[in-house]
Amino acid sequence: MSDAQTVELAAVTKRYDGALAVDAISLKIKAGSYCCLLGPSGCGKSSTLRMIAGHEDVTDGHIMIGPRVVNDDPPAARGTAMMFQSYALFPHLSVAENVAFSLRMKGVARAERLDRAERMLDLVSMTEFSDRKPTQLSGGQQQRVALARALMTEPSVLLLDEPLSALDPFLRVRMRSELRRIQAEMGLTFIHVTHSQEEAMALADLVVVMNDGRIAQAASPREIYNAPRTPFVARFIGGHNILDDGGRTIALRADDVAILPPGEAAARRRARVSEIEYRGPDVRVGLETEAGETLNAVMRERAFFDSPLAPGADVAIGWRPEAAHELSRDA
Ligand code: ADP
Ligand code: MG
Repeated sequence: MSDAQTVELAAVTKRYDGALAVDAISLKIKAGSYCCLLGPSGCGKSSTLRMIAGHEDVTDGHIMIGPRVVNDDPPAARGTAMMFQSYALFPHLSVAENVAFSLRMKGVARAERLDRAERMLDLVSMTEFSDRKPTQLSGGQQQRVALARALMTEPSVLLLDEPLSALDPFLRVRMRSELRRIQAEMGLTFIHVTHSQEEAMALADLVVVMNDGRIAQAASPREIYNAPRTPFVARFIGGHNILDDGGRTIALRADDVAILPPGEAAARRRARVSEIEYRGPDVRVGLETEAGETLNAVMRERAFFDSPLAPGADVAIGWRPEAAHELSRDA
């Protein structure tokens, strides 16, 4: 296996016929880390990934993989491999032959390439399917094969564009931990595009939240969740209330909102319960304040049922001063 590499973007811009898709983004991804590019559809995630892969020209700026500027390198010379949303397996080849395909292109002898394919299939827990054709596999199994095939090229950076989005929710969660395990075992740099904040939080060492061709915030999942930089980030990752608090805009985690008796003197807001949503481990309480703000409080399930509330109830709302996190106004 090749060594993991850092990936660095310096003021990287992408225009399509003049239309700005990626706007001078700068970013450093450490070697051996798991990075997720996270953001809504159209924010420039795939364009960024394709520029790193070399499938798309860089309009402006520099991309470095390890110590090298790779702007002018063809994809095959970059040490990257790409795993697509559609797995693009060859239907007429067996699983093992699909995985061994890059070795066949390099002229590696059949016995050796099938042997190496078997070892890679072992890593993705697919050895027992090595003789099947892709059509005889489930979506999750095809995805493992596609992953093994991409890893077979011995990349130092693996690029994944929405790799889990075709899977049902149960498989998606299982494959997510598989991806993380494989990344850790191989010690490679992974750059994974997703529009799911849950997926990014679960997988990444570094979450890069993108909005409209720019980086809104790049930080660890915990930092993003505890200290979202802008209203956009707070909204996109969810779980936060965004409030105007005496002229400053604050983010307040829904699980930091305390629901108090209506007469509570230390209340920050008076509100009425508008909605109760049971979610298993916790309960979301929708609230409307006197001033007309809508707010969510999330309580542990048992705490909620210790003194249950119903829609229409008048309550007071409080929070610890340190729970309010000030947001920057620039989007
Ligand atoms: P994402 O992956 O975050 O959904 P993309 O990078 O695919 O975003 O797209 C970013 C913007 O660039 C969008 O406005 C999209 O329509 C545009 N775009 C993407 N690919 C092309 C292309 N090949 N030609 C023209 N415009 C494109
Ligand atoms: Mg995309």
